[in-house]
Amino acid sequence: MKPAPFAYKKARSLDEAVALLREHADARLLAGGQSLVATLNMRLSAPSLLIDVNGLGGLDRIEAKDGTVTIGALTRHAQAERSDVVAKHAPLIAKAMPHIAHPAIRNRGTIGGSIAFADPAAELPACLLALGGEVEAHGPNGKRTIAADDFFIDLYETALRPDEMLTAIRVPASTPETRTGFAELARRHGDYAIVGLAATARAKGKGLADVRLAFFGVGNTPLRARKAEEALASGDVDAAIGALDLAPHDDIQATGPEKKHLAGVLLRRVAGQLMEPRA
Ligand code: FAD
Repeated sequence: MKPAPFAYKKARSLDEAVALLREHADARLLAGGQSLVATLNMRLSAPSLLIDVNGLGGLDRIEAKDGTVTIGALTRHAQAERSDVVAKHAPLIAKAMPHIAHPAIRNRGTIGGSIAFADPAAELPACLLALGGEVEAHGPNGKRTIAADDFFIDLYETALRPDEMLTAIRVPASTPETRTGFAELARRHGDYAIVGLAATARAKGKGLADVRLAFFGVGNTPLRARKAEEALASGDVDAAIGALDLAPHDDIQATGPEKKHLAGVLLRRVAGQLMEPRA
């Protein structure tokens, strides 16, 4: 299928992109285009205007400073995948990267596009949630910050306002006590996950504290499994699996009960990663 007709404008500044969003209520930002173009071609969306933000400078930086890693919205997946800063200071994101689609898609797709699109089976939204990170957004009234716990609202729906552009994500930099775990099950490598799990914790003595389990592919948004987090912090993996407070619906990949079972399988694998010395 071909997309419905649309106008195209290349934004020359962040302010111009935001002003265009404000003027055109049904406009869409064009970042890597790896999700947007498919929705246009399938006529799942028909914006009157595409605002190309690819030329905006300074939004593709990766920086670790004062205990925080900042990744600019226009950072390509491939750039994050190859980044020494991400590998050292945000190892959960480094673990997730190879699972996102295929190299050709990772060469174009952006971190900001992935978080803003908020596919419920996508890796990065779950990583952001597991890390307790935040999103930086720019709108007509300037900049604001939204915690990951408040960002993912419903299916493909986020706390971003229609006239805001996501400009960066920030996550706490890894410390010697940080533990991370990541696993997903997909039919073929690079497909969206049937079920996935991104997790963080802090080593405390021989156990874990501050466990955050963010499942994806099991609901309308990435979801924390809070009862299982508590059980895992007390060191009991079987109790954590028994406490999995998820109720996935059937989708085209698997039934709800199958997904729930797979979530338990992943939890056991990821618990092993969290309990190992930092890798
Ligand atoms: P675009 O496609 O340009 O935009 C997507 C949406 O986000 C649009 O509505 C756009 O307006 C909005 N948007 C973009 N940037 C911003 C911003 N800075 N602020 C506000 N709104 C913004 N992703 C996965 O996570 N896992 C996978 O396994 C996976 N598999 C894929 C397989 C295929 C075959 C394809 C084509 C894509 C796959 N993707 C997968 C999606 C890919 O990761 C996309 O790159 C990503 O979801 C969107 O990033 P983008 O930069 O391409 O955004």
